[in-house]
Amino acid sequence: MDLSNSTLLTSPDTYVGIYQELSKYNVHLNIFERLWASWYAYMQNDVLATGIMSFVMHEAVYFGRSLPWIIVAKISYFNKYKIQGAKIPTAAEQWDCAKLVLLSHFTVELPQIWLFHPMAKYCGMETGVPFPAWTTMLFHIAVFFVVEDTWHYWAHRAMHWGPLYKSVHKIHHQYSAPFGMAAEYASPIEVMVLGLGTVGAPIAWVLLTGKLHILTMYIWIVLRLFQAIDAHSGYEFPWSLHHFLPFWAGAEHHDVHHERFIGNYSSSFRWWDYVMDTESGPEAAKARRERKAKKEAKKVQ
Ligand SMILES: [Zn+2]
Ligand SMILES: [Zn+2]
Repeated sequence: MDLSNSTLLTSPDTYVGIYQELSKYNVHLNIFERLWASWYAYMQNDVLATGIMSFVMHEAVYFGRSLPWIIVAKISYFNKYKIQGAKIPTAAEQWDCAKLVLLSHFTVELPQIWLFHPMAKYCGMETGVPFPAWTTMLFHIAVFFVVEDTWHYWAHRAMHWGPLYKSVHKIHHQYSAPFGMAAEYASPIEVMVLGLGTVGAPIAWVLLTGKLHILTMYIWIVLRLFQAIDAHSGYEFPWSLHHFLPFWAGAEHHDVHHERFIGNYSSSFRWWDYVMDTESGPEAAKARRERKAKKEAKKVQ
């Protein structure tokens, strides 16, 4: 069903009215597909429909996911899970962070989100209903995670090169003990460069294969936001994901990066830092020293 040409027999002017009307003639669609199609029919402007949906989704997910971490910081029971022990963020620190993040969302990200629909259409992304099978979406999202992680590793590592660090990346390292909301606390240039991995992976995919639904991209961005916010949370639990998926980076991985300013450049996975020998932390440093000593000993022989 092409949403831009969705014709309804009568044209109710409320969202609920459109939903009811659309449901009568589209019994094969599930509730999410109906809600989605009604939104586009209600807006009568696909660029605006996608733009508003993207922006609201980004804000709701970003602050919605940061909120539990703000609450956790207030409950002393959780202190034992805090990676950098006593460094609990203060209310003032969190408020300063929220202000900069909001400023960048409204000035840097909003105009880009507005360009999203035309760009998605231009690249051949689908926006209609029905949605693709969940297995297809899962496969696409897995690919995006791997591609983004690779982009993030190299771009982030480059940003630790002196001049780039001073002029761009230093802002993100304002908090040596990060907290959830600090995920997007960064220079607008950094937001754009690193964001290119998140947005560029699906675009490259649709340009290469010609198959991608914009909903898959939304779910991907939501999961990527969860990943980034959780990696900055500062908390490591016995039930944290990397205990079950050893190659998942998580908070333990990125917290050390903020504490030591060096190593652990990846976003979602641990393999790039492992392969490139840039793992951070005392254990990694010890292993590196031992390897070096072995090499030296071999040279002497
Ligand atoms: Zn960094
Ligand atoms: Zn960070």
